[in-house]
Amino acid sequence: MAIQIMSAAFTGIKGVLVTVEIDITRGLPALNIVGLADVSVKESKERVRSAILNSGFDFPVNRITINLAPADLKKEGSLFDLPIAIGILLATKQIIVNDINDYLFIGELSLSGELKKVRGSLPVVMEGIENKIEKFIVPTNNAKECSLVKTAKIFPLDNLKQVVDFLNYKDLMPYKQCRDLEILINEELDYEDVMGQESSKRAIEVAAAGGHNLLMYGPPGSGKSMMAKRIPTILPSLSQEESLEVTKIYSVSGKLDGNCGIILQRPFRNPHHTISRIALVGGGNKIIPGEISLAHKGVLFLDEILEFKKSVIEILRQPLEERKITISRHNGTVEYPSNFMFVSALNPCPCGYYGSYEKQCSCSDYERRRYLSKLSGPLLDRIDIFTAVNLLPYNKIAGVESSEKSVIIKKRVEAARKIQEKRFSQDVIHCNAEMGQKLIKKYCHLDNSVSKIMELMYDKFNLSSRAYSRILKVARTIADLDSSKNILDIHIIEAMQYRKFIDERII
Ligand SMILES: [Zn+2]
Repeated sequence: MAIQIMSAAFTGIKGVLVTVEIDITRGLPALNIVGLADVSVKESKERVRSAILNSGFDFPVNRITINLAPADLKKEGSLFDLPIAIGILLATKQIIVNDINDYLFIGELSLSGELKKVRGSLPVVMEGIENKIEKFIVPTNNAKECSLVKTAKIFPLDNLKQVVDFLNYKDLMPYKQCRDLEILINEELDYEDVMGQESSKRAIEVAAAGGHNLLMYGPPGSGKSMMAKRIPTILPSLSQEESLEVTKIYSVSGKLDGNCGIILQRPFRNPHHTISRIALVGGGNKIIPGEISLAHKGVLFLDEILEFKKSVIEILRQPLEERKITISRHNGTVEYPSNFMFVSALNPCPCGYYGSYEKQCSCSDYERRRYLSKLSGPLLDRIDIFTAVNLLPYNKIAGVESSEKSVIIKKRVEAARKIQEKRFSQDVIHCNAEMGQKLIKKYCHLDNSVSKIMELMYDKFNLSSRAYSRILKVARTIADLDSSKNILDIHIIEAMQYRKFIDERII
């Protein structure tokens, strides 16, 4: 009779239960794996054979068939090694366990029988719990991320021999339970360290408060990336639900190290300009999430954005709009969330000093235009706030005045976000930046006098309708920071400032 062992795989960041069936019959010795297994699963034959022998058990000299169900799900990765090995030991009666289907098994085996860490254990455990499985046997190095799931009983083990001993003498092993979340604050980064730059800091605060995308421009050394890196310190803290979602992405990427079970801080991703399309948006042979998903709920920062290949930047358009990325593959598609705040920085011209008081720009008009032409209209259209960052005059750097701490700015940001949560409680969005035309109409109403000012600016600066909506959304956020129910003229005028690009051009 065939033996059944519960295991699981994942697609995107969602776990899927998989039943591993093992049947041993007489015949020429062979081991076959069926059920849409890819190369990495097929390789497990050799690992399982060596692991069983090297752990002191016998490997049957019979015909072994392993079926992974459901058959229509493409299975990849090495996480079925452990359930396959346990199934073979049960089928050959080398161990006898009555309640084997109370457990879900995942783990890669080394040739010597050690259990090695696998990708995606967090979504796997979450899926198990949804299907009323409570007990999980996992590699020790996966234990921390798995124990984030309340009600899961996690049994972390080091090798195949230990798993067998555990199944024989269960009561000797305590399980790991869900830990309380400890809040770690990155103490090293703080806006307190950023001298001057008050207008840019204000622009960043507005961007953080409404979840708006931001572009900073200014000469090299003016502190653009220093300010960008500190954005997560003023964003609202992650809720437990958000933490789990972000951690799932890192779990399937294999990017959680043993010490860190859960992601508690909003991610800040800062890929280099040589990054490939796949590394940025995800995909590849093994299909793993890209930087845009690793930045989910946090910040994606592209420094020197004009140095990136145009094709790489263009690919951001879809995820910026849809806040998720769909990756097509030969059988079906995988979807990863990618709802991030997009922050970028650039020098205003090739030499970097155009418009600066400190140094003369040495570029020609033509060079400057050609340089900026790399920024496509559709991408610029997705940026709500532009801010110029200038080199600081000496008296600002040498001055003793201290800057505001991140925690104080964060309090204001959180208050503004609370107003937005309440506003959008009946809608599917969370912050002002996510408003579409319909919601802009609903929530960004202007009184007569304010509407007149807007009309004046619209005509004077020849605004596009896109720019018009962006100004309204940003003005809504500024009003929220002000705890003002109505959008006032000062809010509109400040929002207008953030449409000013290089050359004082309004876009
Ligand atoms: Zn220049």
